[in-house]
Amino acid sequence: MMKTIFEAQDFIMNTGVEQKICGPAPRSIYEASVEKLHMLEDRMSFYRDESETSLLNRHAGKEAVKLSKDMMFILEQAQEFAYLSKNTFHILLAPLVQLWRNAGAKNKLPSHDQISDALALCDSENLVLDKTAGTAYLKAGSMIDLGAIGKGFAADVCCDFYRELGASSAFINLGGNVKTLGKRPDGKPWAIGLQHPDKPRGNSYGAILCADQSVVTSGAYERYQVIDGTKYHHIMDGQTGYPSASDLKSVTVISESSIQADALSTAAFVMGLKKGVDLIYNAKCTGAVFFTAANEVYLTKGMKPHFRLMERLKCYEI
Ligand code: ADP
Ligand code: MG
Repeated sequence: MMKTIFEAQDFIMNTGVEQKICGPAPRSIYEASVEKLHMLEDRMSFYRDESETSLLNRHAGKEAVKLSKDMMFILEQAQEFAYLSKNTFHILLAPLVQLWRNAGAKNKLPSHDQISDALALCDSENLVLDKTAGTAYLKAGSMIDLGAIGKGFAADVCCDFYRELGASSAFINLGGNVKTLGKRPDGKPWAIGLQHPDKPRGNSYGAILCADQSVVTSGAYERYQVIDGTKYHHIMDGQTGYPSASDLKSVTVISESSIQADALSTAAFVMGLKKGVDLIYNAKCTGAVFFTAANEVYLTKGMKPHFRLMERLKCYEI
């Protein structure tokens, strides 16, 4: 059967979703994956009353909740990434995330007291999983938020799905969270552009050449709000209670697993260059690219052959 490429763009999980699928019946694969993405959003969304996230949050301090296999898997992975990142990444920062979100809506900075009250509810130990029973229990006052790993998980699910349905080559970009299946249909590696943190969208400072890998970037420039004329981005430092202020403008993590790349790009961004590099080596990711506040680029070992610098920037191996 002739193989054709099908390309489409949608808006799901509150972000743009771009898919390119090459296989025997790519349109039906695409339609099935869109359905899957809506289903995952229904399950994971913080904002939907019927989601498993909301169900768990509503039952905090009351009782354990039976969850789907997908959801249990995400929560188990989240706990592992929290452990690896010494809790720089963890999914129980929701009270803090919400405080800052409301602050943006009201255009009023949260007070120190409000921040310490929110932080008191953000203990990563407050989620208890029972893997055998397939249940989760949240302590009173706690809430989970899968904002930093949900898209990664969804990208993994979609790529598995493409393969099962017979695709030979595919690409998915979920709001900057990219995953590829195989090489491009022409046999060349996929080239994933890395957004320049200070330039308008679409300006890449470099590219990652890859096949069967995920490429995920976290940065302060992506999502932020302005309060009293100052920008506050959406990635939180659970030590200070403020948006993280590290020596990085962005971090890109390359891994076979998109949920790993998503979680660890968020963590490395908060940790900064030195600790971020250690994290990437400890977690045995494929690699990472760090863009520092001084506009220098650092590549972990082994990344050089897979990276193209497209701007006149200083670039080092670390
Ligand atoms: P994006 O959603 O822009 O790709 P991230 O993957 O870095 O960015 O996730 C950021 C989201 O995750 C925030 O909007 C918030 O919901 C949540 N979050 C913020 N800080 C943290 C953190 N330190 N650990 C885990 N989740 C976080
Ligand atoms: Mg992330």
